[in-house]
Amino acid sequence: MDDCVFCKIASGQIPTKKAYEDDVLIAFNDISPKAPIHILVMPKFHIASVNDIQNIDDALLGKILKLIPKLAAMLEIDMSGYRVVINCGENGGQSVDHLHFHLLGGRVLTWPPG
Ligand code: 5GP
Ligand code: ZN
Repeated sequence: MDDCVFCKIASGQIPTKKAYEDDVLIAFNDISPKAPIHILVMPKFHIASVNDIQNIDDALLGKILKLIPKLAAMLEIDMSGYRVVINCGENGGQSVDHLHFHLLGGRVLTWPPG
């Protein structure tokens, strides 16, 4: 989508520090980290939110989910623990309408979230 900031990141139009990339997905550092480790993992093609998750191929969804613990291990937060978050819509606090998974770690994360 032309006006989507994450589509621009996926296509390389906006530069980011990448943790992983292949032909279908990308993982990159959040510009405004909420924890010492804050990575966003997402499909490269545009999908607005988890409400539209039926539109993602099962294999791609599996690939995204399986990448997350690999990144956690690579970033050495797998043993200390971490959180995976998908915000959805206004009440869920979603600010970019391109589906993404937050990987947060490197500190104790409180519960419940705000
Ligand atoms: P959401 O609020 O939609 O769950 O998460 C969007 C996240 O994207 C926020 O944590 C925000 O800091 C991050 N973000 C917004 N714009 C950019 C950008 O241009 N580059 C990067 N790397 N992260 C961004
Ligand atoms: Zn997009």
